[in-house]
Amino acid sequence: MDPRLLREQKTVDIMIELYCRDHHEISDGLCEDCEALKDYTHLRLQKCPYQEKKTTCAKCPTHCYQKTMREKIREVMRHAGPRMLKQYPGLAILHLLDGFRKPAPLKKNRNT
Ligand SMILES: [Zn+2]
Repeated sequence: MDPRLLREQKTVDIMIELYCRDHHEISDGLCEDCEALKDYTHLRLQKCPYQEKKTTCAKCPTHCYQKTMREKIREVMRHAGPRMLKQYPGLAILHLLDGFRKPAPLKKNRNT
């Protein structure tokens, strides 16, 4: 996997952990729901058609998350975003910079 995608995965992991710790009564690790959400984000990243050319998921033109997962992850981001800046400023800033990338247009499978 591309190092940038690995970093993005790590960033998302931390955000889900921050969210779960503040919302769900779990002393260690993630609750079942958040664990499933985390697995889902990993799967989406692995299957992302843009790979190392991708922008951040929030700015991506391709919305690959199913509706319920998208709502969950948005809630996680809303909660964890400001906390990331304080606790992991490095990761947060890199993620912000990733958002300025323009994803490469995907090759179209049709003859025009
Ligand atoms: Zn949780």
